[in-house]
Amino acid sequence: MLSYRHAFHAGNAADVLKHAVLTYCLDYLGQKETPFLAVDTHAGAGFYSLTEGYAAQNREWERGIGRLVDMPALQSGPAPLPPLLARYAALVKETLGVELPRYPGSPALIQRLLRGQDRAVCFELHPADFTALEENFSADHRFRLLREDGLGGLKALLPPPSRRACVFIDPPYEMKSDYAAVPEHLAEALRRFPTGMYITWYPLLGRRSGTESGGEGAALRETLLGLYDGNRCAVELRTAKPPALPAALPEVPGAAAPRMYGSGLVIYNPPWTLREALEESLPVLASILGDEQAGILILHQE
Ligand code: SAM
Repeated sequence: MLSYRHAFHAGNAADVLKHAVLTYCLDYLGQKETPFLAVDTHAGAGFYSLTEGYAAQNREWERGIGRLVDMPALQSGPAPLPPLLARYAALVKETLGVELPRYPGSPALIQRLLRGQDRAVCFELHPADFTALEENFSADHRFRLLREDGLGGLKALLPPPSRRACVFIDPPYEMKSDYAAVPEHLAEALRRFPTGMYITWYPLLGRRSGTESGGEGAALRETLLGLYDGNRCAVELRTAKPPALPAALPEVPGAAAPRMYGSGLVIYNPPWTLREALEESLPVLASILGDEQAGILILHQE
């Protein structure tokens, strides 16, 4: 089932969190001359219009990237954005131009941060998004675009010849099986390439009473933290209060989806400076993106 279209959600608060961290990690890898490989297991279309089509329907971006790039402090005000956020917001502004026509998804950010010696592999299963991905990136010889299952295809790329890589795992989780498939494939990836940098995103959806607090997303976070005992970091940004949902939601197509009240990332082998950068950035991000009194963050690193 491939009903998820990222264009509906492009630029929302979850995108801001995941893309700001992705940008930081790629910048870090770019500090050394040695080439790196960027893998985007769930790439989407690469660029999105925010003013037309799907993104214009729900306008989720207005409460996400719209708020971040609107910050006057982006320039040089009395309270400039922390560097992690300022860098990401500046890249988005650069790509967007003035009218917000081309908002960059993860492949576009990767393209912007790849150097001549680096390579990228992007997986995308949806036919329409894959066509858009091809239109946007096939002319770039550094990119390989694959219309294949990104989790299943990952292991064949590891370890990369340069032994340096950033793997970005951003499934839609529209199918419950994603919650089990992600750790399963990550375990295999870690066996092959334990020193790689892996960034895995998960949603925080309305809690069902009777289940563990935070639902499947929080359970996935704990599973992922338990999967790897090396350097790892989890970060969560809540932009609204968790809504309580009835114990049994109808699992039928078309049923109202539980509302996303936040999202998180588990990062294996993050840059050693990431924790400090997040500690500085997340309270600011929560105040920009969170509803009144709802911006809460959880952060831990071992
Ligand atoms: N990473 C993108 C970004 O940040 O701009 C957004 C990706 S979106 C959350 C998830 C994408 O994964 C969708 O475009 C969906 O069609 C695609 N997808 C779903 N299952 C997939 C699979 N097994 N392998 C590759 N892509 C898949």
